[in-house]
Amino acid sequence: MIQLYIPLNFLGVIYREIKQSLTDLDKMFALLSKEREVADTPQAQPLQVRGATVRFEDVVFAYEPDRPILKGVSFEIPAGRKVAVVGPSGSGKSTLARLLYRFYDVDGGRITIDGQPLVQVTQQSLRRAIGIVPQDTVLFNDTIAYNIAYGRPEASTEEVEAAARAAHIHSFISSLPQGYQTMVGERGLKLSGGEKQRVAIARTLLKNPPILIFDEATSALDSRNERAIQAELEAAAENKTVLVIAHRLSTIVDAHEILVMEHGEIVERGTHAQLLAQQGRYAQMWSMQQDGQGGSPAGTPASAPS
Ligand code: ATP
Repeated sequence: MIQLYIPLNFLGVIYREIKQSLTDLDKMFALLSKEREVADTPQAQPLQVRGATVRFEDVVFAYEPDRPILKGVSFEIPAGRKVAVVGPSGSGKSTLARLLYRFYDVDGGRITIDGQPLVQVTQQSLRRAIGIVPQDTVLFNDTIAYNIAYGRPEASTEEVEAAARAAHIHSFISSLPQGYQTMVGERGLKLSGGEKQRVAIARTLLKNPPILIFDEATSALDSRNERAIQAELEAAAENKTVLVIAHRLSTIVDAHEILVMEHGEIVERGTHAQLLAQQGRYAQMWSMQQDGQGGSPAGTPASAPS
């Protein structure tokens, strides 16, 4: 069950709104909403984004009281730079992203954007500043146009189409008899994993937020699709502050800093070149992926299920 609802929880949307759209999933979200909810303080101010520098300062977090997940994690993503997180499954990578989006409040330490602690800003302003391209995109039971415009409902048809073009999904959409008015989601046209991801990229391009979170899919898309999507993500990420949860190390060699997580702690950090020179955990993952030609998720043995 946890496996199923974590990716949904991670969506760049507020789950109450999803609940209205996906009635089939009501039960699941009833479960979700029992989890701790975050609330704006009465003094909460809108986030003032300048360069969008993100800082995690000694962040401690647990979903359940007796099971620490993050044990004092500190790092900075300078404005307009990219930081990547790698490590074995369950090490806490996606949890960092969920905390940055403030699905949960931290138990210790703090997270700031341009010096403003997340707990002191309104959730609406925070979420407006962050775009997420999740591992698994769940679409609303609505038209493709609605799904792309979700991050900026006031966008014009031309803007929606421009985002779809940039995400290389426009020609696919145009080939459908109903075009942008095609219903998708649980009860509409079923899109492939790659097509759904392109819709998510288009949505993010249209929203144009200063901070981006990419949660790379663990499941291997075919490598042509993979390269195309990678190029689109790179275009979307230009001049933005980016947190990438990476499974394929080849996509993050240019990161400002790479964090290697294990059991909720950063065990190695540095640039790609520095980490290779250290000949530690990262260097080991790198050579494993080179041998496997980049096929296996970072930190996961090639034979293990991801
Ligand atoms: P993967 O690479 O498989 O996506 P990850 O490193 O991103 O893994 P997280 O999703 O951050 O790992 O999960 C870290 C730990 O927290 C895991 O042990 C997971 O079972 C646990 N966890 C995640 N979400 C919840 C939740 N909502 N309630 C309880 N435990 C959770």
